[in-house]
Amino acid sequence: MSSRSALAGAVFVGAAAVSLAAFQTADPAPHVAAARAAAGTDFLPLFNRLCVPPAAAPAAGRAPAPARPAGPPPRSSWHADPVKVFDNLYFVGQTEYSAWALVTSAGIIVLDPLFDYSVADEVAGGLETLGLNPADIKYVVISHGHSDHAGGASFLQDRYKARVVVSADDWDLMDRTGGSWRKPKRDIVAKDGHQVTLGDTTLTLHQTPGHTLGTFSAIIQVRDGAARHTVAYWGGTAFNWLANRAGYITKERPDTFWFDQYIASARRFRDIAAKANADVLLSNHTAFDGSTTKLPAMATRRPGDPHPYVIGAAGVGRYLTVAEECALAGRARVP
Ligand SMILES: [Zn+2]
Repeated sequence: MSSRSALAGAVFVGAAAVSLAAFQTADPAPHVAAARAAAGTDFLPLFNRLCVPPAAAPAAGRAPAPARPAGPPPRSSWHADPVKVFDNLYFVGQTEYSAWALVTSAGIIVLDPLFDYSVADEVAGGLETLGLNPADIKYVVISHGHSDHAGGASFLQDRYKARVVVSADDWDLMDRTGGSWRKPKRDIVAKDGHQVTLGDTTLTLHQTPGHTLGTFSAIIQVRDGAARHTVAYWGGTAFNWLANRAGYITKERPDTFWFDQYIASARRFRDIAAKANADVLLSNHTAFDGSTTKLPAMATRRPGDPHPYVIGAAGVGRYLTVAEECALAGRARVP
């Protein structure tokens, strides 16, 4: 098929698919177009990550992912300074990965405590830099059991006796994942809808399978002076089964299974976020939610300026539409 006829087909399908289940088409083009439109300029990194297919590599000749070299990477390659983003929510992440500290009247809840090598520096050290006390960490909420977000949990569990909250599926995932990082001891096993309440603050976890089976996304209330905002926190982003076949793909769980889970989760969480009137979208990767530019913008924000992270309910919806439509495009590419 020439590229011209492929494009013509895409236009036709796009026009005809309005009231149909869009994933019934096997043409990714209308979904890529819908995702690109939703992405605007602000969510291009998300679009590029999810909608641009990985370069086809011959499975047999594919080089394995490079192993992490012994010892932690040099601090200069990952260190970032902490930032107060809302009156009760602080960025304590590193350059590419975000950790968030939610400060309540009875202690601190940490979301996604980074790698084992950076948690002490960024989370514990970052809180101290901000004038907060890491010994006040009462809960560690893990969106999913990968080392870039869960790797720091055991440190916080051991050092501060923080309770660790993970879904059953991702406790199991950590149990069976080998590798070089220390897992937290199994603690709170949270189900869909689980609420973590500490003092005056409650955050609600919604299981959004896709990136992993037990990925949690969250709804979080934040304050900015007199203003109140609601955060939609999307817990897992990439279509990992495309790269890590061994960790995901089985006879019972082929590519379509993972895409379907992800599509359903993106739709469901977009509805949840809309009902909660969420007007802030946060990620655990700094590129996807715009933290790479928004964190520096916090430093120059003056009283009365708009908040860089407040994007409105429509912005939150667009983000989750990019995720959904790119997953639909990926599903359409499955042979
Ligand atoms: Zn992950």
